[in-house]
This record gives sequence, structure tokens and C-alpha cells, in this order.
Amino acid sequence: MTKTYGELNPGERVLLGPGPSNVHPRVLKAMATPLVGHLDPDFLEIMNDTMELLREVFQTKNTLTIPMSGTGSAGMETALVNLLEPGDKAVVCINGLFGQRMADIAERCGAQVITVEGEWGRIIEPESVEDALKGSGAKLVAIVHAETSTGVKQPIEEISRIVKNYDALLLVDAVTSLGGVEVKVDEWGIDACYSGTQKCLSCPPGLSPVTFSDRVMEVLRTRKTKVQSWYLDLTMIQNYWGKERFYHHTAPISMIYALRESLRIIHEEGLKNRFKRHITNSNALVAGIEAMGLEMFAQEGHRLPSLNAVKVPEGVDDVKVRKYLLERFNIEIGGGLGDLKGKIWRIGLMGHSSTKNNVFLVLSALESALRAQGFSIRPGAGVAAANEVFSKDL
Ligand SMILES: *Cc1c(COP(=O)(O)O)cnc(C)c1O
Repeated sequence: MTKTYGELNPGERVLLGPGPSNVHPRVLKAMATPLVGHLDPDFLEIMNDTMELLREVFQTKNTLTIPMSGTGSAGMETALVNLLEPGDKAVVCINGLFGQRMADIAERCGAQVITVEGEWGRIIEPESVEDALKGSGAKLVAIVHAETSTGVKQPIEEISRIVKNYDALLLVDAVTSLGGVEVKVDEWGIDACYSGTQKCLSCPPGLSPVTFSDRVMEVLRTRKTKVQSWYLDLTMIQNYWGKERFYHHTAPISMIYALRESLRIIHEEGLKNRFKRHITNSNALVAGIEAMGLEMFAQEGHRLPSLNAVKVPEGVDDVKVRKYLLERFNIEIGGGLGDLKGKIWRIGLMGHSSTKNNVFLVLSALESALRAQGFSIRPGAGVAAANEVFSKDL
């Protein structure tokens, strides 16, 4: 007998993990739009719209503002392989998993990596960046704005001033902030910034929006060596996204349709409203979490609205709770990474997933899951506290 394969039928999940987030039905519909060629005049217009809308979310005038083919890590790699040449010195700030990944890539570029290590769950202090830069001759400083592994939101402006004083380039990872949390590329003096589509932009994974300043363009023009990656070489890719529209690789058409639609949704909502929505929903979630007798993990005052890290209480089994949420409520939340495995939960409220409904849902489901393990909670305490926050937000 020949084997048959059933239709795709995965569970209908509420995605409240570290990404992907739930995708708006309008984005899914856009992905089903019939293809045109990647050099079709109609597609060129779609590319132009996408670049324009991306400049809006990055809050930049940078000409080179495009989606790279690949996930967020492709954006990370694009920034590093294009900016760094063998022998260059790079300061990389590490206070979570994604800082580690940047250091790994920078090393693979042949750069001499100077790390600034910070405690996971706390921000990187500007003074430690200055200490690393002093007399180093570093070409760039790389830092994560929204550290998804810990839920920390890193202040960028002061570090940017220091980086400029040392005449270095500032590279910022905005994968879990772009489209959900304020990212001001021009005002903050960021030279290179990348993101991913599946976090606060609420698109499927597959593209990595990037933007580069004029200073970076100059660095690219004056490189002594070829960029080590052919696929991610911006000196060629910019000729496809620029006026020439030279073929480099076939653009992932359907993903660009999806990104354009998700950016159109953001444009309609307005960045200000969108950031406020993310903050309010996170505040309500945090109030609920604390009312249930749980504690947040990240440093107070520097918590990320899009990724809420919660400490797993003593005597509670992390895996059992996540399994319970998934099996009984179809909710996905994230566990801890690296040393934080089993110690924190990561609750994402990103883009289309950041809703009042989801805040109530995850709080009440978490209450059930915790009670099932004998953790005592005043019934409804979490939901009541969240309600209190929402009622003040008119
Ligand atoms: C998710 C994430 C990445 C990597 O993105 P992928 O899409 O998984 O390749 C990089 N940096 C941060 C901060 C992230 O949250």
C-alpha cells in the first residue's frame, strides 16, 4: 500500500513565546497573492513601498533600508560581515544569548572581538562600553536593544554618544523591538540596525529588515577585502534594491508581500498607538503576574514590553507548566535559554499577539497550571490586577 499524507493540520496556537507571534489574517491573505517576477515592474513598486514603510518603522531616512532574505540571524550576519574585515576590532556587548551570537559571528569574520560582559537580566552600563573602547581602536560596537533571552530593554542613546566620541560605528539588534517598542535609528545615531519579521512585525519568519547609515555606506565603499559572504554582500544586494535593479538572487516574493502587508497594518495603527498598546498590555500582564505571587526576572525600569520574563517559582516544574498551557489552552510560552533553562518563562506580547484578550487568557491559564502543581494563588488575583491596569487606560 502506498503511504498517504494528511492535509496540514497543526493546532491553532496562541503564540505568546519569544517568537514567532501570531500573524494577522490580512498578512496570510497577502501571502496567497499570485506571484509576479522579481524584476516585474509591478514588483518594483511593491519593493519601493516596502522600503518606504520600513524607513517609517525604523524612523530613519537611510536609503539602504531593505529586507534581507533569511531570518533575524541573517540580518545579524549581514551587518557583521559587511562592516567587519579580518583584523578589525569589534566591541561586542553580551548580557544574553544574542550578544553571544554576535560575538561568535564577529569572530568568524576574522575580527578581534573585545567583549563587554554584563549579568543576564541587567542592562549593559555605558561606562563599561567606554572602558572597552578606550585606546582600543575598535571599528564598531555591537549591542542588543531587546534581549529576548532575558527580557531586558537596553538604553541606547548614552552608549551611542560614547561610541561616536571614539569614532566607532554603532550596530544595534532590534529583532524583538522593531514594530513593538520605540526604535529611533536616526535620532539615536545608530549606524546599522537589523530585525526579524516574526516578532513585533507579526509576519512569518523569513525576512530580516536592515538599515544602514551613510557612514556605513562609506565603510562599504572603502573595504580592502571582499565581503566573506556572497549571499549577504550588501555591495551587490543594494544594486537590486537600488535604481539598477540588477539580479542578485531571486527575492522571496511571497514573503515580501507579507512584510508589505504587515507594515501597512503598522502604518494604519500608527507607531505611537502601537508602542502604547505594547506597554499597556505588558503593564497589565506584569501586574497580574505579581498579584499571583510571582516575580519578574529583568531589572526593574529596563523591562521589555514585548518579552516578559517571569521567574519560575520554587517547587514548580517549568516544563510541566508549559506543557499544561500548550495541551489545555493551546498557548505557547517560552522557557529559559542557557543558564536560565528551567528558571524563567518568557511570555511574548508581540505585534498581533499583544492584546488584552491574550493577557487575560495567559494569566488565567497560568493560574490553572500553577494550581495543578499545588502552588497557592488567590483565585482570579492575576486577572483582577490586569483589569485594574486596563480600567485606568481609557
Ligand atoms: C529572534 C532573535 C534573533 C534571531 O532571529 P532568528 O529569526 O531566530 O534568526 C536575533 N536577535 C534577537 C534579539 C532575537 O530575539
